[in-house]
Amino acid sequence: MNQESLTTLQEHWDITYNHVLGETGSHFYTVLRDEGKILGRRCPVCERVLLPPRSFCDRDFVDTTDWVEVGTMGRVEAFTVVFQTFRGLPEAPYCIAYVLLDGADTAILNYIKGVDWAPENVPQNMSIGTRVELVLSEEREGKMTDFWFEKA
Ligand SMILES: [Zn+2]
Repeated sequence: MNQESLTTLQEHWDITYNHVLGETGSHFYTVLRDEGKILGRRCPVCERVLLPPRSFCDRDFVDTTDWVEVGTMGRVEAFTVVFQTFRGLPEAPYCIAYVLLDGADTAILNYIKGVDWAPENVPQNMSIGTRVELVLSEEREGKMTDFWFEKA
């Protein structure tokens, strides 16, 4: 019997699937595509504006009630720079970040573009609190890739 312990297994996943958006997600992506606006949902109890929009508040467990257009400027809350290229994702290096847009109370995840992500330059080029601006694609499909962030 082989006593060598196994530490890795090579596997391969390549799947295509339809992600159900629901009523709230459908409205968010439709308005993003057609009007180029970023909308959050307001909780009637805590009055936080949730972005990405949710149909209920995860703090109060009540339905959100109002659509709120948020600002196009924001603050980096967390980020990571990716140095490994993965199939279906951009050529590395690239950066993904949680950005708290002005007027929203929760952060939304997307790419930060237009920055030199060479490892030695990341500390000077990005940090928690960096101000960024939302940039809309001219050709929008109703996807998260319809917008990204750039340093303000
Ligand atoms: Zn709430």
